[in-house]
Amino acid sequence: MKLSVIGTGYVGLVTGTCFAEMGNQVTCIDIDEKKVEKMKEGKCPIYEPGLETMMVRNYEGGRLEFSTSYDSINSAAAVFMAVGTPSREDGSADLKYVYAALDQLVPLIQDGLIIVLKSTVPIGTGESVKEYLSGKTDKKYVVVNNPEFLKEGSAVEDFMKPERVIIGTDDDEAWKLMEELYAPFNRQVSRTIRMSNLSAEMTKYAANCFLATKISFMNEIARLCDRTGADVNEVRHGISTDSRIGAHFLYPGPGYGGSCFPKDVKALAYSAREHGMSLKLVETTEEVNAEQKFYMFNKMKEHFKDLNGKTIAIWGVAFKANTDDIRETPAIYTARALTEAGASVRFYDPVADDNFEVYCKENNLKAEKVENKYDALNDADALCVLTEWSEFRSPDFGEMKKRLKNPNLFDGRNLYKTKSVLEDGFTYYAVGKRI
Ligand code: NAD
Repeated sequence: MKLSVIGTGYVGLVTGTCFAEMGNQVTCIDIDEKKVEKMKEGKCPIYEPGLETMMVRNYEGGRLEFSTSYDSINSAAAVFMAVGTPSREDGSADLKYVYAALDQLVPLIQDGLIIVLKSTVPIGTGESVKEYLSGKTDKKYVVVNNPEFLKEGSAVEDFMKPERVIIGTDDDEAWKLMEELYAPFNRQVSRTIRMSNLSAEMTKYAANCFLATKISFMNEIARLCDRTGADVNEVRHGISTDSRIGAHFLYPGPGYGGSCFPKDVKALAYSAREHGMSLKLVETTEEVNAEQKFYMFNKMKEHFKDLNGKTIAIWGVAFKANTDDIRETPAIYTARALTEAGASVRFYDPVADDNFEVYCKENNLKAEKVENKYDALNDADALCVLTEWSEFRSPDFGEMKKRLKNPNLFDGRNLYKTKSVLEDGFTYYAVGKRI
């Protein structure tokens, strides 16, 4: 099938590459010329395990093309919109990139084209898009909502083996085509679920908000553990054995970040307000998370009393492991609070360090990038771990103690064994663990 994908970010490039991997002829379109050039040179513009190899294989095999031009759309069976939908100041989703892309594709619409909204868009957007386009073209097209559920860090695997594929459409022909397109990804059992455009949009927000709520819930339980002496790891184990609760998303930490949960939680709460109601749980999830992003900073402040003149090393600035994405990462909030309190900040991250360095320069945040995790500790007053990268899980504690001025360890991801780090002589703080 001939397909076009608009936007080659975490979702668009993975979508385009995986469809090409299944034998489709895909053109990935982006307005960012540098990105397109980079992809044509065989380099993946984002860090995503397994993506570059698959991208190059399909590019060299002639099934995947990259372009700044929209021309491929006029011979495509379907076009996937995967542009960003960031938050506005008031929390609503900003659809300017979606509508800018629609304006560009209008002249290329042919009868039968399926316009697939893969971006996360507010409930009612599919209908609004249909209406918007109806005033601009006489061609017959169908607007389908196909929200994406991949996770950064395992995006290729998630796309290749989806737990479910949501297709929002009331058009039988479009449903058939979408089912056919996704069939190779669901060979054992069909995981494609058909529903209305509105329900598909709501499903995406409901899923993300539910997961974010789980995180905020566990973060609050961890805070209470810190106050009472209960241990959140024991509690997590205790509750996760209940099959109604399950074992996933029960890990407390420095707050959720990334390009999805923060903006989607805000956007759903905003949508509800627009409909004259307040989603109290969703609003509170966001409030708890906003506080949680300062949890490790507050622990450092309590420990040092005065942070002025202290040097703090941060391990991990990506919002989670296995990604270079730093959007809304807890490291931004922690580093900013530390520098405002007069501390110097150094950071190390195996993948996201360059992105964080650029962020710091553009946003006047004074933090120094260090190329080696142990060098970051030299003469520092404390180490604060904010991302659960594998390479932080079993570090050389002897080396760490030698490098640090004072062996203070603030473990924002509960990576270390309490007994063992205490025996090694560290002053240890974590999230809800009994110390
Ligand atoms: P991104 O910011 O990584 O990528 C968006 C891309 O679109 C950029 O490369 C940008 O240059 C390009 N773009 C913007 N306007 C364009 C235009 N008019 N024409 C062509 N290209 C254009 O975004 P992302 O993280 O991939 O997210 C895309 C959407 O998918 C969002 O709605 C997001 O909420 C949703 N989503 C993201 C994830 C995720 O893990 N990142 C997961 C599921 C859903």
